[in-house]
Amino acid sequence: MTKPPESVRTFWDGPDHGRHIPFGSTSVQHGAAVFEGIRCYATASGPALFRADDHLVRLLNSARLLGLGHDYELARLRAAVVDAAAATGLPGCYVRPGLFCPDPLLTIDLGRLRFRLGIEMWPMSPTPVPPRPVRLTVSPWRRPSPLSFPPRAKAVGTYVTSAVAKTAAVAAGFDDAVQLDPDSGRVAEATTTNIFLVRAGVLVTPWLTDNLLAGITRDSVLVLARELGIPVREGPVDLAELRAADEVFLTGTAGELAPVSVLDEHAYPAARPVFDAIAAAFHATVTGARPDHADWLTPVPAAPAS
Ligand code: PMP
Repeated sequence: MTKPPESVRTFWDGPDHGRHIPFGSTSVQHGAAVFEGIRCYATASGPALFRADDHLVRLLNSARLLGLGHDYELARLRAAVVDAAAATGLPGCYVRPGLFCPDPLLTIDLGRLRFRLGIEMWPMSPTPVPPRPVRLTVSPWRRPSPLSFPPRAKAVGTYVTSAVAKTAAVAAGFDDAVQLDPDSGRVAEATTTNIFLVRAGVLVTPWLTDNLLAGITRDSVLVLARELGIPVREGPVDLAELRAADEVFLTGTAGELAPVSVLDEHAYPAARPVFDAIAAAFHATVTGARPDHADWLTPVPAAPAS
């Protein structure tokens, strides 16, 4: 088994610059914190963050949905993530800004706490990597109910539910798991990615009604597919439709676009013409080779000499 990658650097906007958040903080004890993951890719004019503002708006929305108090607005967050990516000195990296509470106060009343920005940076390929087909199983663990937690919030604590589903899938010999909507039993998403299928030339993805994270890669794929002239439908997707698909693939910031080869006992065809076309457009977009989405790229200046 390969060792998971280690981060290269931490930025912490607080008195204790470094990696230290007290063990007693509610962010550690109860998972009360929100976060984002943003990719920095190499372009012809230097490194650039992909859809940074969209990620940071989602971070601010996650904080609002949980009632977290903090002092950040979009411009300040943008400047911090650009500086963080530049400080790695790498052409490609993965930048994770999060709002954490560093104070070891014994309360879960989040309105009484102040949340601060931390950013963790990992080295990552400066261009999208050739995808490795993924073997999926249907998880017995469904997504958290919208009656228990706001599904649009990307909160640290809810990732335990993804982790439980992923861990069980890997133990059963698969790479990842499909999680179903808790109420309808329809397909929602995989543990850290959104899911797409292709049937008779139409690209289909579960609608947001079924309690999935509104993925930014999901949105990019929908935009690029429409531009390629591929018919697109966001709607209810049941397991029978997923099994009957001609192609299935996953989308996410860290995992990019990855084809699915197997769903439990069912194998998908090896030819994936729609996936290949969209993956090529995605590759060209994140590396700035397609000028029509230059507004999705935030340039990262060269690292300051230290
Ligand atoms: N669903 C879940 C549960 C996720 O954690 C992620 C990763 N953020 C995604 C979907 C994909 O979202 P994005 O494309 O914005 O990375």
